[in-house]
Order: sequence, then structure tokens, then C-alpha cells
Amino acid sequence: MADVMTPEQRSRCMAAVKGKDTKPEMIVRKYLFSSGLRYRVNNRKLPGSPDIVLKKYKTVVFVDGCFWHGHEGCKYFRLPKTNVDFWRHKIAMNIARDYANNVDLKLAGWNVIRIWECEIKAKARREKTLERLYRNITNHGYTIPDLPASSDGSIAAEPSVPYGED
Ligand SMILES: [Zn+2]
Repeated sequence: MADVMTPEQRSRCMAAVKGKDTKPEMIVRKYLFSSGLRYRVNNRKLPGSPDIVLKKYKTVVFVDGCFWHGHEGCKYFRLPKTNVDFWRHKIAMNIARDYANNVDLKLAGWNVIRIWECEIKAKARREKTLERLYRNITNHGYTIPDLPASSDGSIAAEPSVPYGED
């Protein structure tokens, strides 16, 4: 697979993400799909239930909401004016859990990519973010061969992960 898309491929990909569903996660999924990558979504067997799992590239992708995951300095991360301590604590717990999930996934051999929703929401940053994501997925130097059974390039089998549920 080519590591860098041609201009036509790229514009096709960007066209694909201009659909009606503007949820950041859906935009990312559409982009990856139109770039020829195949994946599973919301895999609950992996730590943190990654939004997108690309088994072939041993890569998981999270699209993190800026509020819930505490994107420091981001305009989407503003603590409510009431119950500040509650929200501060809750978001600190989320950040700690994200960190623990990253560690667990990396220990199990996964390449972990996290994207902030603001990097997708802002149109000016979207294209660069998506291109960087594509490169990070395809260029990180570790791929596993296609499964023999998958003739269409999709992954038919449940990913077998050396990681138990806890
Ligand atoms: Zn943000």
C-alpha cells in the first residue's frame, strides 16, 4: 500500500468526510474507510474500548471529547461554574483512566493514537489531522499480514489480543 495518497485520492477522502454526520468520530471513520483502511469499531474487549481498531496495523484510535477527556487550554474544555470540584475530580479520573488504558494497550503491543475532537471539528485543522492520522497508522513500522480468509481486505475474525478482560 502506498504510504502517501495521491492528490486525487486525498480529495476523494476529503469529499467523503463532508457528509451529514459531523460527529468527529464518524468523520475519522469515513476518512479512513475512503482511504482504503478497514477496521472494527468500539471493541469492548480492549482496554478503554477503542473507537477504531485497525488490526492489520496493530493500531487503535481514540477520538477524545475535549471536555470529558480534559483537553487543557482548549475552548471546548470549560468547567461548569457550579460543582467545580465534582467536575474537576471527574475529569481527573477520566484522564487517569485514559493514561492507564494507553499503558495497557501499549504493553499488549498496540500502537495507540489519540485525536482531540477539536482537531476534527475545526475545518482548518481537519485535513492535516486526518493526513497525520493516516501516516501514523500506516507508517509506524509494524503490520501483520492479511488474514488468508479475508478476500475483500476486511477483517473477518475477532481480533485475538493477548489481553484478558479485567
Ligand atoms: Zn480540544
